[in-house]
Amino acid sequence: MILYLKACPRCQGDVKYESDVYGKFLECLQCGFLISSHAVESRGSGEEDSRGKVAAGSEAAA
Ligand SMILES: [Zn+2]
Repeated sequence: MILYLKACPRCQGDVKYESDVYGKFLECLQCGFLISSHAVESRGSGEEDSRGKVAAGSEAAA
């Protein structure tokens, strides 16, 4: 279990990162805000892909 201090986007509380047989998730200890790690990972990879294409294009043009 990993703890992110003051990482909650809703209440700035402490968020724990935990994984079990059902998968990985982030949960706020203060307000119960729950984020499934699967959703975070899919969203993050999408941003990385778009940025990578833009960076590669600008490099080729320059
Ligand atoms: Zn919270």
